[in-house]
Amino acid sequence: MATFDNTEVRQTYRSTLVEELRESGSRLVGELELMLPQSFGFCWGVDRALAMVEDARREYKGRPMWLISSIIHNPRVNADLRAKGIGFLKGNFATEGALEKLGSKDVVIVPAFSATVEDMNDLRERGVTIVDTTCPWVIKPHKRTLKYLKEGFTTVIHGTVGHEETAATCSLIESEGGHYVVVYSIEETEVLASFLEGQSEEAALRSGIQEGSFSPGFDVARDLKQIGVINQTTMLASESRAIGDRLKLALTRRDNEAALEQNFRDFDTICRATQDNQDAAAAVADTQPDLYLVVGGYDSSNTKNLARVGRRLGVPAFHIEGPHCIGEKLQHRDRTSGEILEEGDWLPSKRPLRVAFTAGASTPDALLGEVIEGLVAFAGETLVV
Ligand code: SF4
Repeated sequence: MATFDNTEVRQTYRSTLVEELRESGSRLVGELELMLPQSFGFCWGVDRALAMVEDARREYKGRPMWLISSIIHNPRVNADLRAKGIGFLKGNFATEGALEKLGSKDVVIVPAFSATVEDMNDLRERGVTIVDTTCPWVIKPHKRTLKYLKEGFTTVIHGTVGHEETAATCSLIESEGGHYVVVYSIEETEVLASFLEGQSEEAALRSGIQEGSFSPGFDVARDLKQIGVINQTTMLASESRAIGDRLKLALTRRDNEAALEQNFRDFDTICRATQDNQDAAAAVADTQPDLYLVVGGYDSSNTKNLARVGRRLGVPAFHIEGPHCIGEKLQHRDRTSGEILEEGDWLPSKRPLRVAFTAGASTPDALLGEVIEGLVAFAGETLVV
């Protein structure tokens, strides 16, 4: 992977408290033990994307600059970019009519999770200057799916319908005339596997998997003969492996083992940073903290999955977005329903209390530091940094 200078990005979002905890792993504050895993927070791809934005701001100073939508899934970082004068073309903060008026004077930044083929073609036709921050790890599933396509395989994507990365992968497959089906979970995979094994009808398959999962014109008789599995880079790695194994078993039962070579492919496209953060979060969960706070944007896929890791062995884990979530009621995202809820009596009363924290790949250290400070203050302790 190419190198780049992330000094400026890290400086902007640094936290002395987090730096200290990163070194030590844990710290006692009164009757609280604060713990951090060995790996958390900004990943290589996020550092790189934000460094590229700063380079572009210098290089194209004075020209209108736009993001297609979020650069990464963190509200704080996106707000900072808006404050620096970078506009949004899509999403909640879009400038009305800006997309239609784009021309050669404009600079458009493609986010770390890539963009659809349609968006890229549109930008090229409009003659804008494109700054493409797509993470090289996101290119991996794209390359793999093109290989599947060449071999005549349908791609099964372990991912989230509507997530920008998966939307980009789906659009790539469609643009090449291929087909895909997206499965989000083991439960959805079971629905697909059951159909492959001849245990259920097409209607059960269509209704048992989230809407939008099948490519347009998907023909279950034609498009499930040969399948190749990939993952959105930020999914739960253990679940991705289980999904690949379950589909392999289904095809073995349908076609027999000898036909697998011809009809089945599986390739792990989880990114290294996601894997490292999940492994480190699991190691901390295994020490049975009394509470686990997982900090990151509510639409951040890798953060959602860290919260699921944090729940290992029954540890109470909450996915929160920032320090504003901490109060008498804890605001958090429910890992099953995806709803934003408020939880009372969330801070265990026992003392001493062991509290673990981790942060998604798009969460700045500064934000994590504010959460830790907020927790300490809410628990009635005093932190000296
Ligand atoms: S989480 Fe992985 S794929 Fe996403 S930007 Fe970071 S390194 Fe790249």
